[in-house]
Amino acid sequence: MPPATAQAAKPYCERYKCIALTFDDGPWPYTPELLDTLKKYQAKATFFVLGRKVANRPEMMQRMVKEGHEVGNHTWDHPSLTTLSDEEIVAEITSTQEVIHETIGLWPTMMRPPSGATNARVGARMAELGLPQIMWTGSTLDWQARNQKIITARTLKLAKRNGVILLHDIVPETVKSMPAVLKTLKKRGYKFVTISTLLGNRKLAPGEVWPKKK
Ligand SMILES: [Zn+2]
Repeated sequence: MPPATAQAAKPYCERYKCIALTFDDGPWPYTPELLDTLKKYQAKATFFVLGRKVANRPEMMQRMVKEGHEVGNHTWDHPSLTTLSDEEIVAEITSTQEVIHETIGLWPTMMRPPSGATNARVGARMAELGLPQIMWTGSTLDWQARNQKIITARTLKLAKRNGVILLHDIVPETVKSMPAVLKTLKKRGYKFVTISTLLGNRKLAPGEVWPKKK
């Protein structure tokens, strides 16, 4: 028999077909319904939250963490970081780090630039702040579609092993489409994991953009 540690050391997503669902721009009044759905399907997700909303909804943030989800920094007010001064970029991120820490007692270890807008200068600031930049492999454009059937179909089409799917828990049709999405993907053998679980032993460098845009 192989030593037990050999199996234990192998990252979860090398053993299982994983996908990372990510929900941006919350927390919002629809978030608890999404958390209920995730719980029902034993799904873990990652929430890239806005600092200004965290301050208003601490109980939703605490529930996210308690139920095993991951929290990332999505800035305070959702500006396009590439249009800001260095000082403004740093203020957007650090104010959000602080309010998240005050609310859940954890410092986020990753961020997502609003609209995926980044450049070398933003990357350098994130490197100084110690935060990798998390992008996605599939964008549902759910905020544009605003239609449950379309969002369901797009999410299923974008799903792939080790995929990172961009969704928004501020879009009610997205939250409504998740039961069908999770049910179907579960049947297809997917495990729903956080970004950290998806990364496994892989360590992202501060400022690194991952997954790379194609
Ligand atoms: Zn966003």
